[in-house]
Amino acid sequence: MREPGFNTKAIHGNISKPDVHRAIRFPVYSGVAYEFESAEDIEGAFKGTKPAHIYSRSSNPTVEAFEKKLTSLENGHGTVALSSGMAAIGNTLLNLLESGDNILASNYLFGNTYSLFKHTLPSFGIETRFIDVANPETIEQFVDSRTRLIFFETISNPQMIVPDIALLVDIAKSNNLTIIIDSTVTSPYLFQANDYSADLVIHSTTKYISGGATSVGGAIVDLGNGDWDRYASLQKYHHLKQDAFLTRLRKEVYRNFGSCMSPQAAHFQSLGLETLSLRVEKSCANTLSVAEFLEQRQDVTAVFYPGLESSPFHEIAQKQFSGGFGGILGFELKDREASFKFINSLKLIRCATNLNDNHSLIIHPASTIYADFTPEQISEMGVSEQLIRLSVGIEDVEDLIYDIEQALACVK
Ligand code: PLP
Repeated sequence: MREPGFNTKAIHGNISKPDVHRAIRFPVYSGVAYEFESAEDIEGAFKGTKPAHIYSRSSNPTVEAFEKKLTSLENGHGTVALSSGMAAIGNTLLNLLESGDNILASNYLFGNTYSLFKHTLPSFGIETRFIDVANPETIEQFVDSRTRLIFFETISNPQMIVPDIALLVDIAKSNNLTIIIDSTVTSPYLFQANDYSADLVIHSTTKYISGGATSVGGAIVDLGNGDWDRYASLQKYHHLKQDAFLTRLRKEVYRNFGSCMSPQAAHFQSLGLETLSLRVEKSCANTLSVAEFLEQRQDVTAVFYPGLESSPFHEIAQKQFSGGFGGILGFELKDREASFKFINSLKLIRCATNLNDNHSLIIHPASTIYADFTPEQISEMGVSEQLIRLSVGIEDVEDLIYDIEQALACVK
């Protein structure tokens, strides 16, 4: 039988049971509880011998339909969908780690992820050692017997740094580290984490996957490559082999922290997957045109986008990503004042903190997403005072360039 292509899988999914009314679009099961024929049946469901939905905080048919689609798009083993991208990262780490463990994480991260690692996880006895993923030869010196995993983003947000993923995976494997990749800005359409033998891939589905900022959500995809026997936290589930990670997650961490995705969000996100490739292709093409425009301007002092031939990450990005270089770019004007004036002069592009929306959105990261950090930390993370992040939407690119040009003219 022919293996379906990406778009066919994104549209048809992989539904185990058709809807009772045979609705083409999988329905929103917004209820909480599910009835059983007998006490014996519900006992079997709780024990896991008769798989069934019991209570929507643990699992829900609409959420499950979305999870199955994502598993097939990532060529994975299984997926758990959560209330947000941050819930996906937090649940993953709490499912694996114990007090005294440490992890390696990229220095170049989304601000809230950095805050989780730097400020929140230490209260659970978990230390993060920040590494420069752009210089992988420096990584091994940070590994000791309690180092469990490595975490990085496919294209760092907002610095636009693209690590050599095959090299990072090699280093991680030779040091027995689990590989966790945040592929939010690439989505499964641009990057297939399983081709690199990663263990887990994380998405903030709020971004590209939601279909254009329709709802907040997150996902953890187990790619089926993890050696879960190494983790004491999963000991009770070691006999389940490849299912150990997802089973403990579903039965303990996800359920007990109440991290579920709502069925309404799952409905939006399933719809979003259906048009993912179209929107990603359009936003990548728009972003490249905007980056090329900005690069030619004298008043723009730097442009960061791996799609530009001048980017130091162009070659590696071309090798790792298929169909484009992502929908966000960074650029710098002469100083912070000029950046603010530029943002305030835009008429079409909106000032907001999100990305991979259908609308183009702009933000000054140092004064917003990174506002909680010291100037030294912000600069260590590669975020300058002049940096502007632009998430390019799927509008007509001529209108975006017109808006940028008129706003640049207002900055003197
Ligand atoms: N990972 C990346 C790369 C992000 O950009 C974001 C949010 O911007 C997140 C994770 C967190 O996602 P959420 O806002 O859905 O919690």
